[in-house]
Amino acid sequence: MTEQGERGEQELRRGLVATGVSMNQSGLNQGTSGNISVRCGRDFLITPSALPYEQCGPADMVRLDMAGAPQDRRQSSSRRPSSEWRLHRDLYQARPEAGAILHSHSIWCTVLACLEKEIPPFHYMVAVAGGDSIPCAPYALFGSQELSDRLLATIGQRRACLLAHHGMVCYAAELEQLIPLATEVETLARMYGQALQIAEPPRLSRMEMAAVLGRFADYKAS
Ligand SMILES: [Zn+2]
Repeated sequence: MTEQGERGEQELRRGLVATGVSMNQSGLNQGTSGNISVRCGRDFLITPSALPYEQCGPADMVRLDMAGAPQDRRQSSSRRPSSEWRLHRDLYQARPEAGAILHSHSIWCTVLACLEKEIPPFHYMVAVAGGDSIPCAPYALFGSQELSDRLLATIGQRRACLLAHHGMVCYAAELEQLIPLATEVETLARMYGQALQIAEPPRLSRMEMAAVLGRFADYKAS
């Protein structure tokens, strides 16, 4: 690896630690249950299993190749990768535009996921995830290939998905975009969950959501 490449990797490792700390401080996640990764060359860096983010340093981040094999050249890290590394790996392989991935058990997303509910187009901001709903993938055991397969079969072209009886996953092009996106999805889940306590909210039509998606695409392009 070139000197520049090593420096780039160190920066990504530091960014991953900072994003993990920020995920917990913002209330998006509790304890060690969530995990975050970032693409690093042909590989990816992922947070370690069962180590609180506040106690993590850059060297604790685990580098895996797309077969899931550890790639830490200096062998300085003896950490095991997060048990959900398969769904991170599979999303990177399926979605070239994914540069960073976040999985958390944020409260309102998980409340809906435990009811096996998607987030429907009750509010126009649902389009933030790139579609007219944020779907909910059927339940599978945590850390399993089946969970990853069900996530990929459900998420489609969207950037966020709920996992039944478990939590949520979202991805963005850059690490810095993960917390804002996860916060937006959690806010939508909370608004929908609270609306449900009064009544099932009416939904925007397919045409209304297509107009929102078109407007979002214009903003991105401009
Ligand atoms: Zn989880």
